[in-house]
Amino acid sequence: MPELQFHGAAGEVTGSMHILHVPGGPVLLDCGMFQGRRAEAIGKNRRLPLRPQSIQAILLSHAHMDHSGNIPYYVRSGLRCPIYSTPATCDLCDIMLADSAHIQEEDAKFWNEKRARSAEDWIDPLYTMEDARAARHFFHPVPYDQPLQFGDGCKAVWIEAGHILGAACVLVEAPNGGRPIKILYTGDLGRFDMPILRDPTCPLPQADYLITESTYADKIHHNPTDQKEQLVRIIDETRAAGGKVIIPSFSIGRTQNIVYYLSHAIREGLMAPLPIYVDSPLSTHATEVFKKHPECYDEDALKDFKNTGDIFGHGLVEYITDTAASKALNDRREPMVIIAASGMCEAGRILHHLKNNVEDESNTVIVVGFMAQHTLGRRIVERRDEIKIYGRFYKLLCRVEVLNGLSAHADAADFARCLGPIAPGLKAAFAVHGEGTQPAAMADILKKAGCKNTFIPKPGEKFQLT
Ligand SMILES: [Zn+2]
Repeated sequence: MPELQFHGAAGEVTGSMHILHVPGGPVLLDCGMFQGRRAEAIGKNRRLPLRPQSIQAILLSHAHMDHSGNIPYYVRSGLRCPIYSTPATCDLCDIMLADSAHIQEEDAKFWNEKRARSAEDWIDPLYTMEDARAARHFFHPVPYDQPLQFGDGCKAVWIEAGHILGAACVLVEAPNGGRPIKILYTGDLGRFDMPILRDPTCPLPQADYLITESTYADKIHHNPTDQKEQLVRIIDETRAAGGKVIIPSFSIGRTQNIVYYLSHAIREGLMAPLPIYVDSPLSTHATEVFKKHPECYDEDALKDFKNTGDIFGHGLVEYITDTAASKALNDRREPMVIIAASGMCEAGRILHHLKNNVEDESNTVIVVGFMAQHTLGRRIVERRDEIKIYGRFYKLLCRVEVLNGLSAHADAADFARCLGPIAPGLKAAFAVHGEGTQPAAMADILKKAGCKNTFIPKPGEKFQLT
C-alpha cells in the first residue's frame, strides 16, 4: 500500500521534500534546501531521512532552491537515480545549482577563516561545484502533459503551475491492487494574469490525495495588471528629478518580468527610452534560459516572441556580467534603471548600487519582491533613517517605492479557484509549505470547498494511502 512521509516544508516554508513509498522504491517529491538560521539549516540539510541509494526517482516541481537546492548534497551522499522535471526546470537547475554550490563554497571559506582565528572546527561546504556538476547527469527532461512511466507500474505527469518558468504541479499514479491511487502535488502554485508565463492549470486534475503549498493561503494579493503602469510612473518621475532607479530583484522570474514590462512600455510609446541595465551574472544566464523555452510562454508573450524574436529587451536593455562594467555604472550620473540581485539586498551587486545611491534624494529604490525580516531589504521597506551596508551606515534619503503586485505565489482566491472544484472528490489533503496560520487557512479553503479531511503534517509523519 502506498505511503506518504513528510520531511521538509512541513509547518515551514523551506526544504520542500515529501517521500512517496510506491512499488519500485521511495520517490522524492522535490529535494529542497532548508534556508534560514545558519546552524539550524546546516543540521537539517545534512539529515537524510533515507538512504539516497534506495531512492528510485526524484520528481521535481520547479527550480527554486527551496525545492531543488539539496539535490547535489544527495548526489554527494550516493543518490544515483533519475531526476525528472520539465525541460526549462532542468536548464534553470543547471545554472542555479552551480550558483548555489559557489555560495556554499564561499560561505564555508568565510567561516573557516573566521574560525581559524578562534580555533573551532572547520566546516565543509554542504556541496561543491563538482557535486553540482555531477548532479547535472541525473536530470531527465519530461515535457509538460506527457505522462512518464517509471518504477513498478507508476506514472507521473507535469502540469502547468504558472509559478516560475518550467514550474509544474505533479500528478502521480501508483498501482494499488485494482484502481491506481492518484496523488497531486502542487509544488508552488502561481497566479493568473502574470506576464510571460501561462496561468496555472484551472481546475487542477482530480486526484485521491492532494499535497498543497499554503504560502499565501491567508492573503489576497494586489492585482498584477497595473504594475507596468506603476513602474513607468515611478521611473518617469525619477527621471524628471534627474535621478537613478535601483531595483533589487530576484534573478529568476522577477527580473525577467520587470524587463518584459519596461521593454513593452518603451515599444508601446508609454515611456521614453533610457538606459536600462540588468546587473547580475545569474540574472543574465537565467534570461538566456527563458529565451530557450518559448514553450512556457503565454499567448501574449508568444505572439511578441514571434514578432520580435526576443522579449527580454533586445536593443533596449544591457545585461552586465563583468564586475568592472558593473562598477563603472557608479560614475555615471544620468538617469538610468539598474536591476540587480540579490532580491532581499543581502548580498551581491545590489549592495554597491545601494551604497552609491541611497543618500541622493533624487534617486528611487523600487522594491518589487518580498523582503524577509532582518534583511537589508526589509529595513529599506521600513524606510529607516539609516541603513548599514558593508559595516558602514548610510542615510536613506532617496525615495522608496513598494510594488506589491508581482508575487509569484497563488493567494487565497487563486487556491479556491484551482483547488476548489476538486476538493469534494479528495480522500484527504495535506497542507504544507506554510508558516504560522497559513496551513490552517489552506485547510479552511479546502473545507469550505467540500474536502472532508485536511491534515497539517509534521516532519516525519507518515500516512497510508488507500
Ligand atoms: Zn517556488
